[in-house]
Order: sequence, then structure tokens, then C-alpha cells
Amino acid sequence: MRVHPAGKLSPMGVLDVGRKCPHSCCFCFYSFYDKSEKQFNYLRTAEYLSTESLKNLLRYFAQWGLTHFEYTGGEPSLHPDIVEITRYAHKELGLKGRMITMGQFLGTKLGGSSEILLDRLLEAGLNDFLFSFHTVDAEMFHKLTGADLGKLQSVMKTLDDRGFSYCTNTVVEANNYKTLPDTARYLVSSGTRYHNFLIMRLDWGWANNNMREEMAVGYKAKYNDIDKYIKEATDILVAADIAVNIRYAPYCMFKGYEKHIVGFKGAAMDPYEWRNGTKAASEGEPLLKCITEEDNYTKRIPLFESDPAYNLAFSEKCEKCAVRPICDGVDRDYVARHGWDEFEPLAGEQIKDVVHFRYEYPGPFIMKEEQYERSPRKKETSS
Ligand code: SF4
Repeated sequence: MRVHPAGKLSPMGVLDVGRKCPHSCCFCFYSFYDKSEKQFNYLRTAEYLSTESLKNLLRYFAQWGLTHFEYTGGEPSLHPDIVEITRYAHKELGLKGRMITMGQFLGTKLGGSSEILLDRLLEAGLNDFLFSFHTVDAEMFHKLTGADLGKLQSVMKTLDDRGFSYCTNTVVEANNYKTLPDTARYLVSSGTRYHNFLIMRLDWGWANNNMREEMAVGYKAKYNDIDKYIKEATDILVAADIAVNIRYAPYCMFKGYEKHIVGFKGAAMDPYEWRNGTKAASEGEPLLKCITEEDNYTKRIPLFESDPAYNLAFSEKCEKCAVRPICDGVDRDYVARHGWDEFEPLAGEQIKDVVHFRYEYPGPFIMKEEQYERSPRKKETSS
């Protein structure tokens, strides 16, 4: 496998196929996104983007020199032309895609035949999946998402039997954090190559309808409650050669686990993270968020720190912290509820390189180069 050197701009785009989604994830970023009283109204009424506009964006990816991309939405697998879009990306443009999905429809039989959507996507060249595996507790999975864990496990098993590896995501929130070690133990027996823990965020749709304070902070759970479970689950996965990312957390909550932390400031320069914007960029003239490394430091990071959409805060103590320049800080509404007591600065010289911790641990940032790779776990973690 080719190892993309840390510190170069990421060669990965994001193909947002539209926000239409039948799932009901209680922690969804797009909750109340249209300012409706109904949490999922936006997802139910959204449209998929046209096949032509998505192909246009894929052509930009190729033109920009991006080699990989991720499908997101909404639920990407339900786009009516998802097989054709996948074929175009892989067979005509030579890109490699990873689909973020709950996997509920991949086992669906197509047009009265015995063929299932999963097979059509793999024939079209789809390179990888990033499955939303929010807990191994089936009842809780249904409570969190409205979906059926059994369907997702069945798709994973089908891929395991074929030697097709994939990646998994768990959004960590107030209901599921105690199940993380059991979830990790289950994933060890699956074909996952790497796993993301996504600590629930409070931005985007939650800001509408004044829900960020009233509901979102409650769902988020305290860092001091979840950190030990995430660490235990990380240890279980790492011991089984599964690489781990911990997303959107201040470094000080995971001392000793800094190499696993992923934040916004490093996104464009992490080995494989999104370089372009999501839906607005897909609909209009596509654009890269970051053209040069200097852009990231001089434009994106200052903008990110001051953007009210992200709502981030740093304390006085943070100013002396070793990772202050590369840390994403803490959500203001979280601090308003819980205060700053949990957050103790890291000692030492300040680190300014946003990918400082990547050099010793590139594994969880590497994408597959082929659909079927032998011993992918070993290849990535040894890279
Ligand atoms: S800058 Fe602040 S929030 Fe970030 S790791 Fe340091 S003390 Fe924690």
C-alpha cells in the first residue's frame, strides 16, 4: 500500500449526494436543520442531487488530482443512480470511493432478480465502506437510529466471507458510551480495518430551534464520563491491529491518546480527509477549501476559530497549553453547562504542526488502494 506522507494536502474529496435520509439518528448533525419543530423534517423532505451535478463534481476531483473520495448524504445508497455514479467514478475516472452508510439497503434485491444492491455496487468498482455501527446492542441501535442492526451485521458478514475489508464509525453520546468496549470486542471479530469514535458535535442543525442548549448538550454526555470507555475500547481495537481515530475532542481529555485525535484544523492536511465542501459545493461551482498548506494556517484555521457555526471556545488556561495552536477547543454551550474544570492544559513547548501526531501513527488515515487487499489490517498498521 502507498503511504501518503503526513504533512501534505489530503487527496480526498467528499461527494455529498443529497441529504435525503430515512434514518432517525438522535444525534444527527442535521437535526432541526430547516428550523422545523420536527427533528428529522429536513432529512425527510430533502432531495438527492442530480446525477449530472454529481458526475460534474467527480470530474473536478480528477482534475484537482484527488484520488479518493467519500460518499455522504443523507443515506447515499438510496440515491436512484448510485450504481451509475459509482461506475462512472471508478471505471471512467479511476477514482476510489468509500461509502458512508448504515447498510440497511445493501441487501435489497433489485427489480425482482436475486441480485442485491451490494453486488451491483461492488461490480461498479466501489472500493470501500464506512459503516455506521453505533453500538453492538441491537435494541439500543434501534433506539438511537430507528434502524436494524441485524441488517448491517448481515452485510458485514457477507463482506467478511469475501475478504472485503471496510471501516466503521461509532457516534459516542449519552446513551451508548458504556457499550463501547463490547462494541469494540464485536468489531475485533469483523473485517473492519479501522474505526472512528465520533464524539457527538453540537454544531450545524442543533443550533436551530434553540435546541443546542436544551437537547444537544444532554445527548452529548460529559467528556469525563465517556473518556474511560473510549480509551478501553481503543485499547481493545488497537490490540487487534485495528487502527482508531477519536474525532472532535480536546486533546487534554485523551492524554496519552493524542495520536488518535482528529480535529477540524488538521482536516485538509491529514493524509486522507475531505478537501472540498459538502452540499453547497456539489450544487454550484465546485471548490477546494484549501489549495495550499499556507492557506490552511493563514485562512482556514483563523476562520474556523471565529466561525459562530462551530461555536468554539478556549479558556485562559488553554493559552498556555502545548497543543493550543492545533486543538479545536470546546463548544461554548458545553462549557456553559459543565464549566472548564475537566480541561487541564498539556505541558511543554507549543506544537504548531497540525499533523504533528500523524508521523508516528498514519494507519487510521490510510485508504485502500484495491477492493480486495490481503491482510489489510497488518499492512496499514505497520505502515
Ligand atoms: S487547548 Fe484547551 S481544550 Fe485544547 S487540549 Fe489544551 S487545555 Fe484542552
